[in-house]
Amino acid sequence: MLGVMKMKKFKKVYVEITNICNLKCNFCPSATLMRTRKLMDHEHFTHIINEVKEYTDHVYFHLMGEPFLNKNIGDFLDISAENGLKVNITTNGTIIAKVKERLLSKKALRQVNISLHSFEANEFHKDLDTYISDIADFINEAQATTNVISAIRLWNMDTAELKACNELNDDILSMLEEKLGLDIRLSEQLQHTNNIKLKDRVYLNMAEKFEWPDMDRDVIDENIFCYALRDQIGILVDGTVVPCCLDSEGHIGLGNIFESPLEDILSGERARNMYDGFSRRCAVEDLCKRCGYAKRHKK
Ligand code: SF4
Ligand code: SF4
Repeated sequence: MLGVMKMKKFKKVYVEITNICNLKCNFCPSATLMRTRKLMDHEHFTHIINEVKEYTDHVYFHLMGEPFLNKNIGDFLDISAENGLKVNITTNGTIIAKVKERLLSKKALRQVNISLHSFEANEFHKDLDTYISDIADFINEAQATTNVISAIRLWNMDTAELKACNELNDDILSMLEEKLGLDIRLSEQLQHTNNIKLKDRVYLNMAEKFEWPDMDRDVIDENIFCYALRDQIGILVDGTVVPCCLDSEGHIGLGNIFESPLEDILSGERARNMYDGFSRRCAVEDLCKRCGYAKRHKK
């Protein structure tokens, strides 16, 4: 396993540059997070990049929290570029206007995923028109002046078990048509597909409401496969290495990257057991047994 791990084996390394969020989406564990709230600083980010650059070409500023709240984000993009890494960011989009200029000048920025479903999942408000206008301005400028990919997400479709907050979807789609200057009727297209290319490097994806794995729920399935530790790992803001972007509390803490080399963490007993378990289509960790995401991707 060690030999395999030394190659650039991960498609994604999630780095939680903050676990603080300015929203409280009703589907997200962020509001009840037990972990200490933090913003990552220059020194710790640099340490992480030095460790992960042997393992991946892509870091993702994602996990819990809103990455645009970290004022070091421009610095982090520069450090990533200096180390040959591309950066993908997932944001709720509420403060995208404030970071637009800083972000779009950065060489490392590859993709920005904007979760529009966060709007209706909150009681706050910024009005919808301002929210969508700010996001559309970002996308229009990114599309016209850079190679950055913009991916709009509306992950709020009802499931058989879950009713989602999606009453504003028609308004949101009409605003996107107008503000992005689209010639297509999105609501009609979405009858046929959940993925639409809106323009070069601009995409819209609809999906069902997402449910995080939860230690308090009943076991869903123990016989699953997951790409965690094969394609991806995550690093929480305090340095805890986790196997995926869904372990919001660090229940599957494999070690701390500020205390041990990543190589040792990935070849440690807990990581090995988990990896070997998935090779047998077997969830070793309790959280994985309660993860609907892995079940969706059952092989
Ligand atoms: S889903 Fe994202 S935007 Fe919403 S509360 Fe959680 S971290 Fe914040
Ligand atoms: S099964 Fe779910 S909780 Fe476990 S590693 Fe995979 S995505 Fe994460």
